[in-house]
Amino acid sequence: MHPAEQYQVIVIGGGAAGLMCALTAGQRGRRVLLLEHADQVGKKILISGGGRCNFTNLSVDATNFLSANPHFSKSALSRYGPKDFIALVEQHKIPYHEKKLGQLFCDGKSTAIVNLLLNECRTGGVKILTRCRVAAIDRRSDVGGKRTFTLQTNLGSYEAESLVIATGGLSIPKMGATDFGYGVAKQFGLKVRPCRPGLVSLTLDSKDLQEIEGLSGTSADAVVACRNQSFRDAILFTHTGLSGPAILQISNYWEPGDPITINLLPECDLTDAITQWQQERPRAELKTLIGERLTKRLAERWLESVGENKPVSQYSKKEIAAISARFHHWRVVPSGPSGYRVAEVTKGGIDTDELSSKTFESHRVKGLYFIGEVVDVTGWLGGYNFQWAWASGQCAGLYV
Ligand SMILES: Cc1cc2nc3c(=O)[nH]c(=O)nc-3n(C[C@H](O)[C@H](O)[C@H](O)COP(=O)(O)OP(=O)(O)OC[C@H]3O[C@@H](n4cnc5c(N)ncnc54)[C@H](O)[C@@H]3O)c2cc1C
Repeated sequence: MHPAEQYQVIVIGGGAAGLMCALTAGQRGRRVLLLEHADQVGKKILISGGGRCNFTNLSVDATNFLSANPHFSKSALSRYGPKDFIALVEQHKIPYHEKKLGQLFCDGKSTAIVNLLLNECRTGGVKILTRCRVAAIDRRSDVGGKRTFTLQTNLGSYEAESLVIATGGLSIPKMGATDFGYGVAKQFGLKVRPCRPGLVSLTLDSKDLQEIEGLSGTSADAVVACRNQSFRDAILFTHTGLSGPAILQISNYWEPGDPITINLLPECDLTDAITQWQQERPRAELKTLIGERLTKRLAERWLESVGENKPVSQYSKKEIAAISARFHHWRVVPSGPSGYRVAEVTKGGIDTDELSSKTFESHRVKGLYFIGEVVDVTGWLGGYNFQWAWASGQCAGLYV
């Protein structure tokens, strides 16, 4: 048997966090090996942001993340913020723009971000192996008492003092997602918090689906609320339930059995608007008037469920109140999140109590680090999850 190849740092997982950690450690002069089981690194970066990678957000702080410990992300985010990654993007002359709400996207393809990371890894002398499957991890002490990790893989065995787990979450298995990181945590006795799909569309049961029948493909600007959290963005009616950015955002906060409340007309107070229309356009039909602010199909469908359509002057105060409630406070209890197949992220993961928020090293197992999405820190939609990957990767890279 060949002796294990020696490194100072081995990173498992060549996604956003793993690449960032590897390039940072490599540029510090550490001998770094990065192992990726897929046929190429950065596959999720390539499909992110509709192919243009929403690589960060202009305004990022711990309130944009969910975790059992809401303070855990503060340290890394304050040491490696959006401006640091933007500086790297500018240094590599990658054109970008703000789409909305501080979200920064590449003007061109996401490949530019993967190339940036690969170029920086090259500068740091990082060795990258793809199609590498790790079969076993052992932790051993040599005669001098120095502890190392030895990895058996299909490409050979490798040894290092620092082992970084950056294998991400369970979302989009067809892009290479595995539960490998959680397995390593369990092997070394670290707690893992329950996982579930995040930033995901929500399904409705058959009764609620009937209510939205015929609306599939319709979208609306709405405010969606659940558990004291609300987001204003587009919602999309689908044949299985609700999707669109505002729904994805609220899905991170939604727990089974929770109702969500949707305001389909956040721009106006419908009671006031109808009272005004009764004065100014008394003969116009209400569905036409509401249809000027919402898609006609949605206005019509929503009105059907609270009574007949007639000229606006004919509505009583009681009817107006019911119609207003229908549009401003639609309350629905989703039957579940759609699965990992379509979820953008995984909520839960390695319990942050197990890790240093400064170095991402395990408190129990010296030399073992967890970064990125595998950790119980989940960001909002809008570039926050990549910022977490960059920040946690960079901070760990300074200590491995
Ligand atoms: C469709 C989609 C679009 C998204 N768009 C955005 C966006 O625009 N902005 C944003 O901020 N976030 C976005 N996200 C979320 C973002 O992609 C993730 O949060 C981020 O990639 C997490 O980085 P990571 O390095 O921790 O994990 P990943 O990027 O998932 O990387 C993990 C890597 O580990 C590899 N791996 C897994 N198991 C093993 C194993 N056993 N051995 C070796 N390697 C392994 C995987 O193949 C992968 O390369 C999107 C997610 C999806 C699914």
